[in-house]
Amino acid sequence: MSAKVAVPRMKVPSKSEFKDKEKPAQIRSSNIVAAKAVSDAIKTSLGPRGMDKMIQDSKGEVTITNDGATILKQMKVLHPAAKMLVELSQAQDAEAGDGTTSVVILAGAMLETSQQLLTKGFHPSNISDSLLHFAAKAVEVLESMAIPVDLSDRASLLKSANTSLNSKVVHEHSGMLAPMAVDAVLKIVDPNQDTNVDLHDIRIIKKLGETVEDSQLVDGIVFTQKSQGHGGPNRMEKAKIGLIQFCISPPKTDMDNTVLIRDYAAMDRVLREERQYILNITKKIKAAGCNVLLIQKSILRDAVSDLALHLLAKQKIMVVKDIEREDIEFVCKTLGCRPVASLDHFTPECMGSAELAEEIQAGGSKFVKITGVQNPGRTVSILLRGSNKQVLEEADRSLHDALCVIRCLVKKRCLIPGGGAPEAELSVKLTQYAHTLTGMDAYCFRAFAEALEVIPAILAENAGLSPISTVTELRNRHARGETTAGVNVRKGSISNIVDENVLQPLLVSTSAITLSAECVRSILKIDDIVNVIR
Ligand code: ADP
Ligand code: MG
Repeated sequence: MSAKVAVPRMKVPSKSEFKDKEKPAQIRSSNIVAAKAVSDAIKTSLGPRGMDKMIQDSKGEVTITNDGATILKQMKVLHPAAKMLVELSQAQDAEAGDGTTSVVILAGAMLETSQQLLTKGFHPSNISDSLLHFAAKAVEVLESMAIPVDLSDRASLLKSANTSLNSKVVHEHSGMLAPMAVDAVLKIVDPNQDTNVDLHDIRIIKKLGETVEDSQLVDGIVFTQKSQGHGGPNRMEKAKIGLIQFCISPPKTDMDNTVLIRDYAAMDRVLREERQYILNITKKIKAAGCNVLLIQKSILRDAVSDLALHLLAKQKIMVVKDIEREDIEFVCKTLGCRPVASLDHFTPECMGSAELAEEIQAGGSKFVKITGVQNPGRTVSILLRGSNKQVLEEADRSLHDALCVIRCLVKKRCLIPGGGAPEAELSVKLTQYAHTLTGMDAYCFRAFAEALEVIPAILAENAGLSPISTVTELRNRHARGETTAGVNVRKGSISNIVDENVLQPLLVSTSAITLSAECVRSILKIDDIVNVIR
């Protein structure tokens, strides 16, 4: 008997699948279109006359912002190539902190140019190589137009912080936020040797209430908690500050346990015992000379019980509880104290001293402020106020940008004019440079040089000016050697932008060019998208 064996039939690939030469081009084109869409979406927020975005998340929370990185972070982007632009803006945020909109717009313009070059028949690798060369040359030109700045030149630092704050929702408060940012950074850096700033040493404390104008730079530290009254002091001069990580409450066992008490005398004994235990702790704290006690938050049990608070109050010790774990390092650095993990180690050496610790009431809320710290570390606290959550959050983001701008100046002490002047200058200089090149490079250079004019064009468009006439005039004036001519959005004309005090750190512009070129190069090199099914 013969059995028929079923041979699985192999799928014979159709001829067209082998011949699908169009596919890489299609993928590339779809990537470019998707990435460009992201860039187009945030175009309108560029510059001081840019629009703001209102973003609503799935929980109904509303954010109002003008910051490119924030807008993109919240946007639900699905296309993998579009996600690359979102990451590009995050990269700029980490590297420079400002210029997050510009970097995405530059990438969008470079992508559009690449698309045109591709349709003309250029190979993606050639375009990519040219772009690498282009970015390096652009950085050289930017460096040649930079104005060196000294960290003692407060006026210049203020100008650059102001430029960054100009384009924010909270720009009307730039008059007080800019000096705050400058002072905060200058306070924690040593101008002679520091080449970077750790922004963790600047703590921004947001507290709802009052207006942004009531924000203040605190020379010392601020806790958003109030002090734990219970009849105890809420103002202490010549404060001796201890920071404890152990709990002042009845101990708990590791395992579940039950204590059965049958008669009243035993109950009484337990209570007396507890009181004695806590009294002993508070007495030791007092004996060490502590009069302001900071208590770390505990997740296992009450960090401090009501009885303990009562006893501490009786001993005239001011208490601030619920200090977050991640704030401990900052608190110690600021107050010059050491966190104490067990009562036995609670000694006077662990404590910090300050002139004054007091509870302050402002705008319906209370907080604790410690000032006049002896041997303070290099830290600063900024108490940010705002009448509503959106304003407060945006003020925080804007202040962060301003701090980053000053940090850029610590890293690289050079300024360049803003208002589209650097991009216009680059465009003119690199077009001239293209004449010295031959072959494909020359063509690509010319095309990319023109693409950079997107920044002044959009600045003009957002300010209600004609982008074409503005850009042509700008090009003309830069060709005549006016390197600082830029778009004066206030007067609606082209003028010497340095006279308008629009200055920005060199690092913001160089990193925008380098990062955007890098991103465009990697998008160009992709010729297929592979989906993995898990
Ligand atoms: P980004 O997120 O890229 O920093 P902004 O909205 O802050 O975007 O806009 C930055 C651009 O606006 C820069 O090119 C800067 O030079 C320009 N700019 C800022 N202030 C002014 C001004 N007063 N006049 C003209 N241009 C300005
Ligand atoms: Mg900015």
